[in-house]
Amino acid sequence: MNAEIIAVGSELLLGQITNTNAKFLSQQLAEIGINVYYHTVVGDNKERLIHAIREAESRADLLIFTGGLGPTKDDLTKETISTHIGRPLVYDQAALESIENYFAKTRITMTPNNRKQALVMEKSVVLPNDYGMAPGMLVKKNKHAYILLPGPPREMQPMFTSYARPELLNILEKVEKIESRVLRFFGIGESTLETELEDLLIAQQNPTLAPLAGDGEVTLRITAKHESEAAALQMIQQAEEEVLRRVGEYFYGYNDTTLARELAVHLKKHNSSIAAAESLTGGLFQSELTDVPGASSFFSGGIVCYSNEAKKELVKVKEETLARYGAVSAECAAELAENVRRLLGAEFGISFTGAAGPEPLEGHPPGTVWIGLSRKGKETETFKLSLSGSRAGVRKRAVKYGCHYLLAELSQKT
Ligand code: ATP
Ligand code: MG
Repeated sequence: MNAEIIAVGSELLLGQITNTNAKFLSQQLAEIGINVYYHTVVGDNKERLIHAIREAESRADLLIFTGGLGPTKDDLTKETISTHIGRPLVYDQAALESIENYFAKTRITMTPNNRKQALVMEKSVVLPNDYGMAPGMLVKKNKHAYILLPGPPREMQPMFTSYARPELLNILEKVEKIESRVLRFFGIGESTLETELEDLLIAQQNPTLAPLAGDGEVTLRITAKHESEAAALQMIQQAEEEVLRRVGEYFYGYNDTTLARELAVHLKKHNSSIAAAESLTGGLFQSELTDVPGASSFFSGGIVCYSNEAKKELVKVKEETLARYGAVSAECAAELAENVRRLLGAEFGISFTGAAGPEPLEGHPPGTVWIGLSRKGKETETFKLSLSGSRAGVRKRAVKYGCHYLLAELSQKT
């Protein structure tokens, strides 16, 4: 099934509003595996709307309209489609009641054109409007399906997700099952990932591969369609294997998981424990880790050592280290990680120190980060990062890198 989204409204053509409805609907349709090939925008004009409908019917199975369901003269989407496909308009009792209730409640006098909003096409599935008056509808005629949604996003979006989307899934399920899985990557940029997978991305049809970047991570959604669910899952499995063969070293988990959650799983599995000394991140790492239920089984505890005094007093960093190398240094990161591990008797110790910005610190540009990683019986390692972005972004990403290094260490044989 492929779809065309037709936004009706002269305000769109005049540049007074942005067509955010098309963006929202495209994202939603992609999620359920419906391809969108065209976005059309047409003004509040009957002839041009009919022209747009004909054009869309020639190239799409599903036509989704937004806008023009209101009570005024320029709202003509419903009337035009009704005439075009030859389905007369009839009053929908439920919609009429809800409109009358609204007027009774607000004590505003109801005008005849408000009744018009309760008109729906014969034999259509009525899509209730929980946030406004005009109901939407889904109509099937010959080879095409038409969905009519109101213009205001705050009415349109919940109507789509609560009522139109389930109807669409119903139609699709009769034909084929849609399965999808998200693979999550860290430590690889979106463009590198796309380059590594370029031929797969170009050739994709079924399953489809959709990369998305955000918050220093990249995800890849694999969606497969097949009459049999088992076959769809098998197709996803095959695509996943090929993807992981190429970029598997950056893969860390599925669907909604986070690096901290995966770290927790691995620490538990290894019966391991961790302690943290945080300067730059001010406790963010510990907060993420303790978000995971059952954190006490692997998290020993930690110290937020923001000032140099705290680093010396609480984590026993040597005066000499701070004087010679400063707090933003490999030496300081190493001592922090090692000492906090010993102090709390954990297998792992991790530390975060650096310049979050916006000002430089000790002459280091914002985004300079040192992470120390100490493991019992092993030499302590340090990692230097030069991150860009806001203060909040630097701190958040530093935590992700910390989890990433720990995961890499845990996946190695002890
Ligand atoms: P109403 O009952 O409010 O008149 P309607 O279904 O008739 O709703 P329109 O009159 O076409 O819809 O548009 C109403 C408002 O909805 C617009 O002024 C605009 O704010 C918003 N809107 C309409 N179309 C879009 C769109 N494609 N993207 C974003 N917002 C839109
Ligand atoms: Mg209107």
